[in-house]
Amino acid sequence: MPKPDHDPSIEHEPHLRGGPAEPDPSEEAADRILDPQQKSPDSCAEDSAKHSVFDEPNIFPGRKTEVIAQDWSCSKCGYNLRGLPTGRRCPECGHIELYQPPPPGKLSFGEWYRERKSKVSVGKSWMILGFAAMLSWPWAVIGVLFNRIPNAMYVIAMGPAVDEVLKLAATALIVEVRPYWIKRTEQIWVAALVSSIGFASVENALSFALFVTAPSFDLILWRWLVCTGLHLTCTAIAVSGLTRAWQLADQESRAPQVSHALTPLVFAIIFHGLLNGLVAFLNLADYGF
Ligand SMILES: [Zn+2]
Repeated sequence: MPKPDHDPSIEHEPHLRGGPAEPDPSEEAADRILDPQQKSPDSCAEDSAKHSVFDEPNIFPGRKTEVIAQDWSCSKCGYNLRGLPTGRRCPECGHIELYQPPPPGKLSFGEWYRERKSKVSVGKSWMILGFAAMLSWPWAVIGVLFNRIPNAMYVIAMGPAVDEVLKLAATALIVEVRPYWIKRTEQIWVAALVSSIGFASVENALSFALFVTAPSFDLILWRWLVCTGLHLTCTAIAVSGLTRAWQLADQESRAPQVSHALTPLVFAIIFHGLLNGLVAFLNLADYGF
């Protein structure tokens, strides 16, 4: 195979050489990868739906004003703009919502979402979320390792952040990438809480197996009741945002905005960090922790 000419002189520009341009051989590798992807109807439909022109923001002057005929929340404050004309200020916060519902029947995220969701049975939905709930359990090993680092920064900030993110990661991934696998908000709650109980249990068992050789009864009780309760409470705080993000996406057939779940997650991390800090303080003050 001839090597491509890398001489940068202007007379070597393809359009000045005469004759047809020779394809760059390095593009053959890209073709081999992209060809099967382009031939797969599934990936093609998903890609087209997620990049539909009808999901683009309405930013061009002179675009027709339409009445919003379905539930459609303001992306700043969450107010339902149903019944109002597009392009007007939100009556609640004054924000001009640039996104509007795609026309019915046109290829859009909403059409794709509804079609995919109708093909997922309730049983399959529960099975997938159950599997996602168990994915966090092995990650508890990382949680244990972080919690054992003898540094206040890790105990109060890094450890809680790692724990809270790892417990929710698999469920959040499903909400963002495959929201149509979920049928009801309760499933997100169950998946997150089961994930949290499993995570706390593995963390407790590992701590006793590796670091505490002869735990007192009080310590065992503390870890299994208080620490597991703390994990559950923090997950309940964090998952509320994720549930809301999915609920909005499902009601309005829009791409889920998982970033909306960030504030509750940060609250959960702060709450977890404060309790860790309190326990560390009591430990230092020799209160028996
Ligand atoms: Zn608003």
